[in-house]
Formats: sequence, structure tokens, C-alpha cells
Amino acid sequence: MEHVSIPDIPIKASRVGLGTWAMGGVSWGHTDDDESIRTIHSALDRGINLIDTAPAYGDGHAEEVVGRALAERGGRERLIIATKVGLEWRGNTIFRIATRERIFEEIDASLRRLQTDYLDLYQVHWPDPLVPIEETAAAMLELKQQGKIRAIGVSNYSVEEMERFRCVAPLASAQPPYNIFERTAEDIIAWCEAHGVATLAYEVLCRGLLTGQIHPDTRFAEDDLRRTDPKFQPPRFAQYLAAVQRLEEFARNRYGKSLLALAVRWALDQPGVSVVLWGTRHPNRLEPLNEVFGWRIDAAANAQIDRILSETVRDPVGPEFMAPSVRPATEAHAIF
Ligand code: NAP
Repeated sequence: MEHVSIPDIPIKASRVGLGTWAMGGVSWGHTDDDESIRTIHSALDRGINLIDTAPAYGDGHAEEVVGRALAERGGRERLIIATKVGLEWRGNTIFRIATRERIFEEIDASLRRLQTDYLDLYQVHWPDPLVPIEETAAAMLELKQQGKIRAIGVSNYSVEEMERFRCVAPLASAQPPYNIFERTAEDIIAWCEAHGVATLAYEVLCRGLLTGQIHPDTRFAEDDLRRTDPKFQPPRFAQYLAAVQRLEEFARNRYGKSLLALAVRWALDQPGVSVVLWGTRHPNRLEPLNEVFGWRIDAAANAQIDRILSETVRDPVGPEFMAPSVRPATEAHAIF
């Protein structure tokens, strides 16, 4: 395992963190809690000490599962629990809500579900255009001063939004989407590197595409978000699968590695990336972790990966479809 420092967190983080979205039981088909708990234990056994979760993942369910798994295992002081704040389920739709009031409500619920009295990293899940960034940042700062959280992070923020946030509260980390196919966050990652802000890259496996386990005939469960993911629809799906096949051959021929290992290593080796999040709810699916360390992607390999993409993906598309809704303007919290 490789390790990295995140500002305001006293222990070093493993550079691969476990993502727990699917453990929430919503948006990814059936999930088994005991299997999820075994996955968390397996991640810890393999040297992963950073677990990323959020109240939005199954409306608290993923946090409950993480809380159970970590309580069973003990050793809280050796773990980095990263959770988030600022989203709300209303029926089947998720909305952004990063008001001071909401943040103060959510923190205690997250601490209870996670069975702990402090969070290592508390991240604002999405910017909320109805709330001044300064209000959100000031609330996060208050929680840090109260000792309920150690470090403050944001997710899905632009550079301009992070600049504003940082004028009010110390920013330890940012969490953008980043993988071989989705690179729009490069300006954010570069800004973070220049300003000493750690980055946690999410969807490094591109929602499973970069595992090599998705095929033209793969069927997704009724509620699986990949049913509406534009990458998984024709005509783009065939283009991305063609890229996957070429990348798989490249990983094997050039490095003797799997596509999944290439995808994780690629993200780890991009400048400014501190931690990559690997989402799974099956312990055996972390086995390729062994393949990730002890080698690096060089410039020629980066160029070849880019060439494969330009030759296969004619209509690239990003992860924008996942952005949560903004509440009606009538709910604007303050005039700014
Ligand atoms: P991901 O890591 O790109 O991909 C997860 C998918 O890959 C799942 O379908 C998983 O299957 C599959 N997978 C993992 N290892 C595999 C293996 N060895 N063989 C075959 N399939 C494998 O997507 P993600 O989970 O959405 O993203 C990672 C984490 O980032 C999330 O869990 C969450 O913590 C965080 N995230 C944050 C945001 C944000 O807005 N801040 C947004 C998205 C994600 P199984 O689950 O069935 O094992």
C-alpha cells in the first residue's frame, strides 16, 4: 500500500480508499449487508484505512453498514472515516441542501450511524447554488472548532467555489470524479496540487466499465444508475467497450496487468491525485489490489492510452448525468 498525508488528519491515508455508495442499497441493484461488512473488513485487512461514505448512499444505510463494520473491528484511531453532508432525499429524487441548519442536523445523525464521536474528513457533497458558499464553509468551520470533525473537504466544487470556500474555512480535500474516460476535473486537481489540498478521485473504475467485467449483453437491475448512464447506451456503449478491449490488451501486453489494475494505477500516477476510491461490495473484488503497487505508468504509456481513446471513443461524455437536483428557487435560504 502507498500512503499520503491529508491536511488536518494526524495519520496517513492509504492511497486507495474504499467507496461504499453501493452499500447503501440504492441505485446499484441488490446489496447484501453482511457481504458489505465482509468487504469493509477485507479492505482493512488489505491495508486500506480510508473509508468513503455519505448519508445520501441509501439515505443513511451505507453509513450504518460502515458503522457496524468498523465497530466490530475496533481500532478507530487507525481509521480515516470520510463522510459527506448536504444532500437530501425527497421521494425518489435527491436535492442539494448545504445550509448551516442542515449541516448541524446531519452531523449528529452521521456520528450516530457511524458509531463514533468524531469524523476524520467531512465533505460537502455538492455545491448548493441556493446557499452562499460562505455560509456552508462557516458551518463546517464551527464543527471543526467543536472537535466533531478533524478535516474539512468539498466534493464536486469548481475552482472558483473552492477559492471562495477557502477564504472562510481551511480546505483539506476535494473529491472530484476522475478516471481514464472522465477527465474534466483536471483543472480542479491541478488547483488542489498548487494549494496543498488533497484530492480523493471518485469513480476511478468508471462505474465498472474499467473493470473489464461489463459486456454488450450485461443486464443491469431495475434501479441501477447505469440504465440511464449515457456511457452505457448506444451508440456510445459500443465505443467505450471497444476502448475497454484495447486498453485491456495494452495493460496485458505492456505491463502484464489487468485493465482494472491499469485504471487504478493510471489514476494514482496522475499529478495531484492523493487517494483513489475503489467502489465494491464484494470482498473478493478487492483481490486485484495486489496488482496495483510496485510499478508506474510512464509518459509513453499515457500517450498510448490517450491514442486508444481518440481512436475508439468518438462521442465522449462525462459523468454530468449524476448531478443531484437543485431545490426550487423559492427555497433560497438567503439573499446573496
Ligand atoms: P467505481 O468505483 O468507478 O465502480 C464501482 C463498480 O465497479 C461497481 O459496480 C463494482 O461492483 C465494480 N467493481 C469493483 N471492483 C470490481 C472487480 N474486481 N470486478 C468487477 N467489478 C468490480 O464507482 P463508484 O462506487 O460509484 O465510485 C467509488 C466511490 O466514490 C463511491 O463508492 C463513493 O464512495 C465515491 N463517489 C463519490 C461521489 C461524489 O459525488 N462525491 C460520486 C460517486 C462516487 P460491486 O459494487 O458489485 O462490487
